[in-house]
Amino acid sequence: MSTSSKLVVITGASSGIGEAAAELLHSKGYKLLLLARRLERMQEFVKQHSMTEQDTLIAQCDVTQVDDIKKAIDHAQDHFKLPVDCLINNAGVMYLQQLADQSLQRQETMISTNVNGILNGINVVLKSMLERQTGTIINISSIAGKKSFGNHVAYCGTKFAVHGLTEALRSEVSGSKVRVIVIAPGVTQTELLGHNDKDQVDPYEDWKKTMSLGVLKSEDVAASILFAYEAPPHVCIREIALAPTEQRD
Ligand code: NDP
Repeated sequence: MSTSSKLVVITGASSGIGEAAAELLHSKGYKLLLLARRLERMQEFVKQHSMTEQDTLIAQCDVTQVDDIKKAIDHAQDHFKLPVDCLINNAGVMYLQQLADQSLQRQETMISTNVNGILNGINVVLKSMLERQTGTIINISSIAGKKSFGNHVAYCGTKFAVHGLTEALRSEVSGSKVRVIVIAPGVTQTELLGHNDKDQVDPYEDWKKTMSLGVLKSEDVAASILFAYEAPPHVCIREIALAPTEQRD
């Protein structure tokens, strides 16, 4: 089946890794549905890359709201006359702080976005994939979903959850030929850190500067997403962990 007859949904496509994945998958000919809350950013992005409604739809969507995701996916499936072949659950937020100082509201935002957001996306596409006996779900976790880092307690909790739910679901649906994959990047240059207070941002930026070869680019992570997705149907790349060469932990 050609790439142009496959519909891929990317959440968190208004910046960083999601945007880079959108650019790469578009260049390979896939039909795309891009989801995020900042509609104007996606409008600007599709214009810049000469994407048209023949190949790419965008929709304002908060992944914590399952109805937002369902409405956008229903519309895209009607528009392209294709079912979702791949869901890339990429939307995420990261607030760093000592747990004792962090507001419950920030912790809840991370849980509802990084965990419930993923379960919401899966809820919308999974039954159809199981019925069709095909489909790929790619969840973006983090190295912080495999090991702990200072000031990362709640964020690590959400990303360990992503690893756990991915592996449990992978096993559960393997007999239905649906692939469930987790990708765990290390430090990547994006807007993710920008939502934090200066006392968190400055030491993190100093840490990044110690890596003289540079941290990951969004494009590096996008390439790993495409690699996992384009493996032949009998191959499930269960996990990819990638990080800057000089990232010790
Ligand atoms: P960005 O901040 O650049 O991108 C995050 C994306 O998530 C944005 O498009 C944002 O869009 C979207 N998003 C956030 N909250 C919501 C929501 N409630 N509903 C819909 N979309 C939402 O950061 P990254 O590209 O780095 O992050 C992408 C993923 O990669 C995240 O899951 C992150 O945890 C993970 N990651 C990042 C690493 C890094 O070092 N950068 C390392 C490891 C993992 P909008 O605000 O418009 O809704």
